[in-house]
Amino acid sequence: MQIVLATHNQGKVAELRAILAPLGFDLIGYDGPEPVEDGISFLENALIKARAAHKHTGLPALADDSGLAVEILGGSPGIFTAIWSGTKDNVANRQLLLAQLKDISAEHRAASFLCTIALVTDDGETSFTGVWPGSIATEERGTNGHGYDPVFIPEGFDQTAAELEPEVKNALSHRAQALSSLISYFKA
Ligand code: IMP
Repeated sequence: MQIVLATHNQGKVAELRAILAPLGFDLIGYDGPEPVEDGISFLENALIKARAAHKHTGLPALADDSGLAVEILGGSPGIFTAIWSGTKDNVANRQLLLAQLKDISAEHRAASFLCTIALVTDDGETSFTGVWPGSIATEERGTNGHGYDPVFIPEGFDQTAAELEPEVKNALSHRAQALSSLISYFKA
């Protein structure tokens, strides 16, 4: 069965395509119009993207939305994670976050990565969310991963996510957890 993934990121398509192929799903990318992502939560934004792809293609559609929630910042950057500094520059985004937490002690630096995957079909809508708890480091460490990985210390580790082996991160992350729920749903 064909499923469309509402992203123009070919890397994301290839990654999920390989995971879903053994389950009999043929995942394809989406090249239709991009909706305005004006939701106020990861779930709303994932649904907006999946609904648009479903409407345009008529196929079951998946979309994901993810980001970082820092407790002492009231859950920010949240849906603004990708543009926290006003730009999409990861270095500027991380540096702004570290500056904002400059005077905050270790015990108040709790944060989580969240990922929500929405599935929209003719039969309705459902979603799967993964949460990866941890805390924000006081400086950048590590070169693996992407985005905020160099400033995120997962719970149970001393290293940042950017210091972990990719296999370790890929087994534990918010995205891995959301995907695992999606796969269980498809299997059931
Ligand atoms: P997207 O929804 O995958 O585009 O991610 C939104 C924002 O969250 C981007 O700024 C990413 O860098 C950040 N982000 C999401 N997942 C991760 C992660 O696993 N590591 C680091 N940053 C992430």
